[in-house]
Amino acid sequence: MLEIKGLHKIYGKYHALSGLDMRVETGALYGFVGPNGAGKTTTIKIMAGLLRAEEGSIAVDGVDALADSRRLRAMIGYVPDFFGVYDNLTVSEYMEFFASCYHLDGLVARKRYTALLEQVGLEDKLDFYVDGLSRGMKQRLCLARALIHDPEVLILDEPTSGLDPRTRFEVREILKELHEAGKTIVISSHVLSELSELCTDIGIIDQGHMVLEGNIMDILSRVNTSNPLVISVFANMEKALAILKSHPCVQTISLREKEVCVRFTGDAQDEALLLQQLIDSDVLVNGYTREKGSLESVFMQLTDREEERTVVSYDTESGM
Ligand code: ATP
Repeated sequence: MLEIKGLHKIYGKYHALSGLDMRVETGALYGFVGPNGAGKTTTIKIMAGLLRAEEGSIAVDGVDALADSRRLRAMIGYVPDFFGVYDNLTVSEYMEFFASCYHLDGLVARKRYTALLEQVGLEDKLDFYVDGLSRGMKQRLCLARALIHDPEVLILDEPTSGLDPRTRFEVREILKELHEAGKTIVISSHVLSELSELCTDIGIIDQGHMVLEGNIMDILSRVNTSNPLVISVFANMEKALAILKSHPCVQTISLREKEVCVRFTGDAQDEALLLQQLIDSDVLVNGYTREKGSLESVFMQLTDREEERTVVSYDTESGM
C-alpha cells in the first residue's frame, strides 16, 4: 500500500500542495484527477523522487520512502507527461540505457526488456530509431522503460493525452493487463469517462488537497442516492406540489416545465411509496427516475465553485 500524509509543496510563495493525503491500496488501479493546476504533476513528481516536498511523508508498504530517494526510485516506475530526449537511440539501445540505470546489464537486461517490449507490442521495433516511432509507440516504449526495474507502483502522468482514439484504447488495454497481473497503478488524467471505465479507485484533488477518495463503485452509488428525483407530471401539478412540499424526505423542489426535480433523502422504498401517494391522489405521472450519477458530476460538484453556487440556490430560485 502507498500512503501519503500531509504533503506540502511551496513554489516561491505559492502553496501548490497544502497537506495532501492519499492512499493507494496494493493492486489498485487508481485514477488521480483534478482541475488544471490542482497539484497532480507536483504530487507525482514528489512520488517519483524528482521533487522535494517541504513537509509530509510517503510510505510504500510501511517503509518511509521519502527518507531514501534511491529506494523511492526503486519502488516507483514513472511515466511523465512528455517524452524524454533520447531520440537518436534505437529502441534496444534506449531500453539498455535505462536498464543500466538500474544496474541491469547483459543478458539479464536483454531478457527483461525484450519481454517488456513484447508486453507493449513493440517486439518487432528493436532496431528502429526512437525518433521514427509514432507518438503512441513512444508512449508504449515509455511504459516499458518505466517497468524495467519491476517497480512496486507504476505512476503515469496523463498517459493518453494527445493520443488518437485507437492508441488510447491500446494504452488502456496494456494498463488493464498490467493491473490484472497484480501491478499497483496510479494514473492522472482529465478524461473522466476513461477513468471510470478503467480504474478501481479514484482520488479527486483540488487546490492542493484531496477532496474525495475511495472505491469508484462506492462513490458512484453514494452519489446516485444524493441525486435528484425527477418526476414528470402530465396532469394535476398543483396536487403533486402540495404532496411533495409536505413530504418529510423532500428537501428542495424545482420546476423544469412539466418536470419536478426533487432533492429526496429517502431510500428506494420511500421513493416507491411517494409514487403510490401521487397516483392515489390522481396525479398523472408519466416519468419517475433518479438522475444517474457520473464521475463527471462528482468532479464538477467538488471542483467547480460556480456549480456549487447553482446547487445551493436551487430552491431559492424556484421560490419554494
Ligand atoms: P495540469 O492538470 O494543468 O497539468 P496539475 O494538477 O498537474 O495541473 P501542477 O502542475 O502540479 O498541477 O501545478 C500546481 C500549481 O503549482 C499550479 O498552479 C502551477 O502553476 C504551480 N507550479 C507548478 N510547477 C511550478 C514551478 N516550477 N514553479 C512555480 N509554480 C509552479
